[in-house]
Amino acid sequence: MKTTVIAIDGYASTGKSTLSKQLAKHLGYTYVDTGYMFRTIGFLVLQNNWLKNDIIAVTELEKALPALQFSWKEGDNAQMHMALNDLVYGEELRTTEVSNLVSKVAALPAVRAHLLDQQRSLSKASSVVMDGRDIGTVVFPNATHKFFLNAKPEIRAERRYAEMQAKGIPGTLDEVLANVIERDRLDSTRAIAPLVKAQDATEIDTSAMDVEAIFQLLCDHIKA
Ligand code: C5P
Repeated sequence: MKTTVIAIDGYASTGKSTLSKQLAKHLGYTYVDTGYMFRTIGFLVLQNNWLKNDIIAVTELEKALPALQFSWKEGDNAQMHMALNDLVYGEELRTTEVSNLVSKVAALPAVRAHLLDQQRSLSKASSVVMDGRDIGTVVFPNATHKFFLNAKPEIRAERRYAEMQAKGIPGTLDEVLANVIERDRLDSTRAIAPLVKAQDATEIDTSAMDVEAIFQLLCDHIKA
């Protein structure tokens, strides 16, 4: 079956997941949140005490990787959710602890290789909107449409902080800003699949735009 891939990459907290979800719903495609995959692995590192004195126990993590399998699971209202070993994770992946660790986990070659295969196979059955950092460059370099989102760090941190407050996730605005800046730095400078705009991606600065305006822009590009 010929399927369509829409790749939405960009810096931390640029609204990628909100827009990707909305776009997938609009087009009848599946939404694949690849940040979720890296975050669940970060969460497991914390849960299993594989972080010692700020150093990830890479050998233990690598041994566990083959057993970490992602799949689709049907939830309420027939909505599909991504599950890791049949468990669907939620807000526990959005804590400051996970956010501070995830980019270090995502820089590990074994983790990237393990997730790359699964990102590709999760997208075989249907057309997808996939968001992340390396979708248009590495995961699907031949994606039908590619977008790259950016915005000023202060604006991104404010948006993320407001979201955290609404959901009751603890943390200060300063912590969120520091995390956004540090994640961008680590994600952009890692050796494998760094965060970089694909040459043929359309870049959108969302600093002065609301979600509805960005959504319209994406739809206009796709139609064109
Ligand atoms: O998208 P989200 O902010 O949830 O991603 C969390 C982290 O996962 C990113 O900061 C990055 O370190 C990692 N990630 C990645 N490649 C992707 C998606 C996410 O390295 N395709």
